[in-house]
Amino acid sequence: MHERPHGQKNPKMETGEVELDVGKLTVLNKSRVPPFVVEDDVKASEELRLRYRYLDLRRAPMQKTIMFRHQVIAAMREYLNKNDFIEIETPILTRSMPEGARDYLVPSRLYPQKFYALAQSPQMYKQLLMVAGFERYYQIARCMRDEDPRHDRQPEHTQIDIEMSFVDEDDVFALAEGMFAHILKKTLNKELKTPFPRITHKDAKEKYGTDKPDLRFGMEITDFRELFKDKDFAPFKKEQVRGLMIKGGSSLTRKKIDSMSEKAKDAGLGSIFWAKREDTFSGSIGKIMDETIAAAAGMEKGDLLIISAGDASVFAFLGNLRNEIAHELKLHGQGYRFLWVYDFPVFETDEKTGRLTASHHVFTQPKAEDIKYLKTEPLRVRGRLYDLVCNGNELASGSIRNHERSLQEQLFSIVGIDKNKYTMLLDALEYGAPPHGGIAPGIDRIIMILAGLMSLRGVIAFPKTTTAQGLLEGIPDTVTPEQLKELHLKFEEEKNK
Ligand code: ASP
Repeated sequence: MHERPHGQKNPKMETGEVELDVGKLTVLNKSRVPPFVVEDDVKASEELRLRYRYLDLRRAPMQKTIMFRHQVIAAMREYLNKNDFIEIETPILTRSMPEGARDYLVPSRLYPQKFYALAQSPQMYKQLLMVAGFERYYQIARCMRDEDPRHDRQPEHTQIDIEMSFVDEDDVFALAEGMFAHILKKTLNKELKTPFPRITHKDAKEKYGTDKPDLRFGMEITDFRELFKDKDFAPFKKEQVRGLMIKGGSSLTRKKIDSMSEKAKDAGLGSIFWAKREDTFSGSIGKIMDETIAAAAGMEKGDLLIISAGDASVFAFLGNLRNEIAHELKLHGQGYRFLWVYDFPVFETDEKTGRLTASHHVFTQPKAEDIKYLKTEPLRVRGRLYDLVCNGNELASGSIRNHERSLQEQLFSIVGIDKNKYTMLLDALEYGAPPHGGIAPGIDRIIMILAGLMSLRGVIAFPKTTTAQGLLEGIPDTVTPEQLKELHLKFEEEKNK
């Protein structure tokens, strides 16, 4: 190897300063011409890149992300190990359980007509580990859920699964805050301010129209009913009159405002009401604006006020609008804004079936003061249930669990789950199960956000497509009749074929 002569160095290349002197050349293996050019700014379609993922992974940005993923996971392990957690693996082949998403099923060869299921999460096992006396557990766990294809959802995703005994919410929050602060320091050399702010689920829905508020900008949803009550403006006599004060929003065009109105109509609401403030007030409610209202609303020259009136659906509508406007006006800025959302309801109504289901999972402990509503008004029962949110994304969910059999059985019966499917947990709770709780941050999403990427597929070495296919492996695929026979399976001819 020798230094390149002056004038022939290429600072753009990592090896641009030197030249190799070839003494002997042995070709260890030949290469076909790759199906696409392996370059940073790749032009090939995602399909082609997924089909030849091992070539795609050679690209510098992919190498960087996969290395970053390794560093984040290493930092997680380092932090948890230092805090006396131990890593324990739990089964992938488990029993099909009726709570949660749809299971991936695995037919048994040895036991005809019987099935295993791929674990949707280690939830059951981590609770059993608490009963077993391992007070601080974690695991980098793969979770497999056969859900309908949806943008950026993977059939298998990875969690850092954590559980602790004798804890309450404050302990879990402090642990997770410490872990994220450590990750950011270690991998990005960034300081994270802890503790993170906390907001109840109810307040989050009211102020931000979502349970995943993006705190990188303000623009909270505000109640304007009182402020306009003397104006005798019929549309503002509705149950909810809520709006957004958009600083500098008068730059939004009429066309943009009209498209917001269209979206309001799609959401089952009437057109939005709006006012801009320049030298005077203009807009659909420009005429009813005055100095007193503007002062109370904090509206200055250059600002835009948008109000939606109707039923409780104004919150979700304005929540979406808030994000859209922030995007449009580039209000996000840099940095990571973490917060806890807590006190979620334990139950919700399933849109398809109209039946009660657990809003997170059925192992969450109801808040002591709400247990009295379990029988009469279950939808009113709040749980010891929390989400960690960052920049408008849910990064983790967790809860304090039921450690008493009777309460756990009651919850199963409310959501119509056969308790016999959970004998292993219910029995275990009868052997002095300690109070316990935990959390499970989603690793793929964390990497995506910290690396500033837009797709989960970009942070997983071998991802599936959004339609749950593995293009590299060519899966799902058929199997041989012999394999089916071994598994005691026979397909019914599909009708009309
Ligand atoms: N097992 C839960 C999940 O997969 C997380 C938890 O409650 O700790 O979402």
